[in-house]
Amino acid sequence: MYISTRGGEEQLTAAQAILKGIAGNGGLYVPEDIPAIDSAWIANLQAMDYCQRAQAVLSLFLTDYSADELVACIQAAYGADKFDTSDVAPVVKLAEDSSILELWHGPTSAFKDMALQLLPHLLSLSLKKSGEKAEVVILVATSGDTGKAALEGFKDVNQIRIIVFYPQDGVSEIQRLQMVTQEGGNVSVVAVTGNFDDTQTGVKQIFNDTAFNARLAAQGHQFSSANSINWGRLVPQIVYYFSAYADMLKAGTISAGEKVNFVVPTGNFGNILAGYYAYRMGLPINKLICAANNNNVLAEFLQTGRYDRRREFHKTLSPSMDILISSNLERLLYHVTGQDTARVDRWMRELTEEGFYQVDETVLTALQSLFWADWSSDQQTTETIAAVYNKFGYTCDPHTAVAWEVCEKYRQQTADPTKAVILSTASPFKFNTSVVTALQGTAEEANEFVILEQLSRLSGWPIPKQLAELEQKQRLHSISCKPEEMAKTVQDILQNK
Ligand SMILES: *Cc1c(COP(=O)(O)O)cnc(C)c1O
Repeated sequence: MYISTRGGEEQLTAAQAILKGIAGNGGLYVPEDIPAIDSAWIANLQAMDYCQRAQAVLSLFLTDYSADELVACIQAAYGADKFDTSDVAPVVKLAEDSSILELWHGPTSAFKDMALQLLPHLLSLSLKKSGEKAEVVILVATSGDTGKAALEGFKDVNQIRIIVFYPQDGVSEIQRLQMVTQEGGNVSVVAVTGNFDDTQTGVKQIFNDTAFNARLAAQGHQFSSANSINWGRLVPQIVYYFSAYADMLKAGTISAGEKVNFVVPTGNFGNILAGYYAYRMGLPINKLICAANNNNVLAEFLQTGRYDRRREFHKTLSPSMDILISSNLERLLYHVTGQDTARVDRWMRELTEEGFYQVDETVLTALQSLFWADWSSDQQTTETIAAVYNKFGYTCDPHTAVAWEVCEKYRQQTADPTKAVILSTASPFKFNTSVVTALQGTAEEANEFVILEQLSRLSGWPIPKQLAELEQKQRLHSISCKPEEMAKTVQDILQNK
């Protein structure tokens, strides 16, 4: 069963937790028991493909979904032609002690696909299981990656509509094109004439507007969000930690039982938290290394035990990690304090009310026994993209470069020889200008598609089909609105369908 990190009596099945998203008391849903696996179970994964591995892991957590239901969801998410490689999440070995886990082979070329390809199918089944008749309307405010990944994941899924709001001048041209060309009978994309904060605030206001929600409920609509605190977004991410380990075993890179380090470019702490669950289940992990950019609130927390969001927000070359409140950290605190919901509740209140909290020595020591953290500046990130390219002929995106750089710092400071897996969260083509600039000093071409061509020549990789096609694709979405008109826009969209 699933319970809240902030206590209370609520006990939900996985399907219910996925449908509800966030607990009534503001907490996040966590599994009451973390399933345990053994070395034979891990050894068996070697012979499986990604879908079978997903089945093996997910069936341990999503116990109220039948085996057939899970197979259907997994096939819909990762089956034939969804990802551009049948490996789904391939491991690329660059050196004896350093491998890259590529999480960006999905339809939007970024790691969010790993979860957002699966979540909609789990949610659709949750609706069915609960007998919910209302149409669920997913509202998303996006600064780029999440919006597109959610659109792709939710398109044409039963009983669900999705409306994505993006700040008109706040996303890259590629990201904008990815969204305005989105196909699907249940999708809407709206440009907001404001910045990301205005957009996000607008969506939050809609969620909190009781009268508006009641009116829409009467018309058979119920709002939900697809954000990364939903258990249905976290659980799919546990799979690739096991999959990477099994691939390395199979390739002889590691031997059975050998511990590895995972280095994770971190924003909302969802990705690395999935690694923590894998560790708790029994995957041989030595360290989980948390890599941040200049918005280094998490790195500071894991070094000092003090979480302080009262700081300047930096726009960096790794924008998907530009976050000051890492929501999923709450789940880790719940587990490392031995399920001390009262303390978690207090810290989260302090964070909201005072802007910071401080954990005690015991908790910090427990955290540091498994986690290590540091950060990389934009300058270091750019240098790392060039260094990895020059040394290994491998082209990585800025988020991946942040992780690579932090891995280097870890090795320098600790001399730990444990083999490392660096999680690569975006295709370099998605951040083409930053990558070409890092490799050539400049990317003068103003046209995105010319830069994609340049990057294709430099990397030796074809431009991902879904990005190359954007130039010719029909622009399907042209609605825009002012921040204060977002609720009305939702109403119009739902009535005109
Ligand atoms: C979302 C995202 C991240 C951060 O992942 P979290 O789970 O939020 O820590 C890192 N890199 C890319 C490219 C992303 O899209």
